[in-house]
Amino acid sequence: MPQATSSVNPFETAKRQVDIVADLIGLDAGFREVLKHPKRELSVNFPVRMDNGALRVFTGYRVQYNMARGPCKGGIRYHPQVTLDEVRALAAWMTWKCAVVNIPYGGAKGGVICDPKAMSKAELERLTRRYASEISPIIGPEMDIPAPDVYTDSQTMSWIMDTYSMQKGYSVPGVVTGKPIALGGSEGRGEATGRGCAYTIREAAKDAGVRVKGGTVAVQGFGNAGSVAANLLHDDQGAVIVALSDSKGGIYKADGLNPHAVEAHKAKTGSVVGFPGAKAISNEELLETKADILVPAALENQISQKNADKIQAKMVAEAANGPTLPEADTILFQKKITVLPDILANAGGVTVSYFEWAQDIQGFFWPLDEVNKRLEQVMVRSYADVHKTATEKRVHNRTAAYVLAIQRVVDAMKTRGIYP
Ligand code: NAD
Repeated sequence: MPQATSSVNPFETAKRQVDIVADLIGLDAGFREVLKHPKRELSVNFPVRMDNGALRVFTGYRVQYNMARGPCKGGIRYHPQVTLDEVRALAAWMTWKCAVVNIPYGGAKGGVICDPKAMSKAELERLTRRYASEISPIIGPEMDIPAPDVYTDSQTMSWIMDTYSMQKGYSVPGVVTGKPIALGGSEGRGEATGRGCAYTIREAAKDAGVRVKGGTVAVQGFGNAGSVAANLLHDDQGAVIVALSDSKGGIYKADGLNPHAVEAHKAKTGSVVGFPGAKAISNEELLETKADILVPAALENQISQKNADKIQAKMVAEAANGPTLPEADTILFQKKITVLPDILANAGGVTVSYFEWAQDIQGFFWPLDEVNKRLEQVMVRSYADVHKTATEKRVHNRTAAYVLAIQRVVDAMKTRGIYP
C-alpha cells in the first residue's frame, strides 16, 4: 500500500489506499465514498499572548475520521508545516491502525501550525490550553481522546487534561493518554511501541523462517521506539544487534553491540556515534547492512526505489511511521522480504494508550507485568490476523493489514446501519 511522500498530498494517498482495498474486498460505491471522507473536522483560529506582550493568532485542527468502532483516538502534532490534508490523512491512518489491532476506537488526529522550537515553555502552555479549550466541544473520554505526536509530550497532555478538567469542574484523566503516571498514565506506555514491535518480530519470524536467536539486527533511529526494540530483541530473544544509528550517523560491529552500553554512551555524548570498538557507518549504509532483520525506527520515506534493491535483510519491521515508499514495497515483496507494516508493527503504542484510557475510566491501575502481558496478547493476535489475511488473499502484509482494518470498519458501519 502506498504511503505519503513529502511531494504528494498525503490525503490523496490515504484515499487511494481506500480505493485499492475497496477493489480487493469488492466494496460498494456508497461505503467507499464514506471511507474517503472524514466524519468531522474542526478548524480553530485562536489568539495567544506571546512573552513579549504581542498577540498572535494560531490555526489548529482536529479531524475525527471515523467513529464506527468506538471513540476516536489520535495524536496532536505541533509543526510549522501542519496542513488540514495532512491531519486528515493521519486521522485515516489512525482509524486503520486501531482496527488492525482490534481495539475499540475510531481514528482522529490534531495539529497546530506553530514552531514549537521557537517558543518558550510558557508560550507553549498558553497555546496548548487555548487550543484544548477550542477543541473541547468535540473531545472527551467518550468521544475523542488525544495523545502526543510530533513535538508534543506528556507535559502537553497534562496541560490538556488540566484545561479540560477545569472546564468540567472535576478531574477527567481519560480525556487524553500519554500522561505522566502521577496523573493517570499507564505503566509501560513509554516502551510500548518498541515492545510491541519486538513481539511482532518474534511472531513473524516463526512464519517467515527468520532466525531471531543468534540472528542479526540493524536498527535505524536509536530513540524511544528503536532503543526499546533493540534492547528487547537483545535481552529477551537473543538477537545480535550489529548496527544502530541516530540523526548524527551509525555504528556497526559484526559480532554484536550491547544496546544498553550504547544507550549509556548516547546519554553521555548525545549520539551513538563514537561508541568504542564500533565502525562508523552512514544511515544509508545501515539500511543496506547485511542483517537478518532491519528495524527502521526514525523517519518516513527511508526505503525508496533507490535503495530497496540493496536491502539485504530478510525482514523489515516498521517501528517508524511510513518508512517505506510504495515503489519500494513492490521491490521488497519481489525480493521475498517479509515486511511488518507500520500500522501493525508500531501499534503497541496506541494499544497501551487504550489500556491507559481503560484504567483511567475504571480508576483501577494495573501493574507493569499485566500491561505487558495484555500488550503481548494483542500483538500476537493481530500479527496472526494479518498473516492469515495475507495468506488467504495472496497479498503482502501491508495490503493484508489494510484489508483487515478497512473490512472491520465497514463491518461496524454496516451492522450499525445508516442513520436515520
Ligand atoms: P524519538 O525522537 O525518540 O527517536 C527518533 C530517533 O531517530 C532518534 O534517535 C533520532 O536521532 C533518530 N533520527 C532522526 N533523524 C534521523 C535520520 N535522518 N536517520 C537516522 N536516525 C534519525 O522518536 P520515537 O518516538 O522513537 O519515534 C520514531 C518513529 O516511530 C517515528 O516515525 C514515530 O512516528 C514512530 N512511532 C512512535 C511511537 C511512540 O510511541 N514513540 C508510536 C508509533 C510510531
